[in-house]
Amino acid sequence: MRTIAFGYSTRCNIRCGHCVAAGEFPATQKMELAKAKEIIRDMAAAGVTGVSFTAGEPFIYFDDLLELVSLCRELNIYTRIVTNSSWAKTPEKTTVLLDMLKQCGLSQLRLSYSRWHQENVPRRNVLNAARGCLETGIAYFISFVTDFSEEDDVYEKFLRDAGLRFFPEPVIYAGRADSFGRKALFTDYQENRCAMNPYLAPDLSMYACCDAGSHFNTTNVFLLGNLKDHSIEQLFTKSETQPLYNCIRTMGITTIASFAGLNSREIVTYRKCELCKKLFDSAEMLKILQEAAETALQKWAR
Ligand code: SF4
Ligand code: SF4
Repeated sequence: MRTIAFGYSTRCNIRCGHCVAAGEFPATQKMELAKAKEIIRDMAAAGVTGVSFTAGEPFIYFDDLLELVSLCRELNIYTRIVTNSSWAKTPEKTTVLLDMLKQCGLSQLRLSYSRWHQENVPRRNVLNAARGCLETGIAYFISFVTDFSEEDDVYEKFLRDAGLRFFPEPVIYAGRADSFGRKALFTDYQENRCAMNPYLAPDLSMYACCDAGSHFNTTNVFLLGNLKDHSIEQLFTKSETQPLYNCIRTMGITTIASFAGLNSREIVTYRKCELCKKLFDSAEMLKILQEAAETALQKWAR
């Protein structure tokens, strides 16, 4: 099943201290609406069945968003919008906006929530947005970004007390969060497989993964290419057939790290995207692993 994170614009109305998108593109980068529609039609023809509108804050271009969501519905594409809820100032205003999106066929809202988001957006807005979804029949969930520190307990309690559906999501130490201090990890020796959902940026560059993948500045290993030079079909096919990406999806980054010679004791000290960066953002190591992905690495299995 082909799905994509669709970065219509990187513009945001707040500035979160942990934002992974920061520094990636000029702040005002945005696709042309007509181009975005053309791309969505091409995506449907290439078998894309799910689009998640993300990057900056999608509600800034609300009228464009309505048109894009409508087009997706016409083309039988499931739609999700990732938002910071800054627009959900009152229950009444929230219902009006969500009704419009529902009529255009929106399937789901993903509400971003964290102690960094909530420095700029009152928690009440997230509550309004979630309740507005229940009222208008749009599915929702809250993405609770956390570094698992005690400071976040009060934020989690708010969600629990309000009976909201939420999923903790580890902060990604890239973009603005790259400079954050990190606490030691105490986790199991986990596989660290990654589904690798592709991401389309407003400049039409497409990446094989949508989280930290555009921050591999040395090797740019996850850059698939640009739609100015390639078709959607070509870039998806590249993402799906590249042997190293398939190893990341199927065997997981931990096994690749062990194959590459990292000590187990060292491997468990890395978070997933950091381990990925350690392995694949070094030209020498990447060359070895890319060659091995079709040969010895394939055989590195129980
Ligand atoms: S994390 Fe999201 S809401 Fe916060 S600055 Fe980045 S794009 Fe905007
Ligand atoms: S683990 Fe690697 S492939 Fe997966 S999201 Fe992180 S950087 Fe991307």
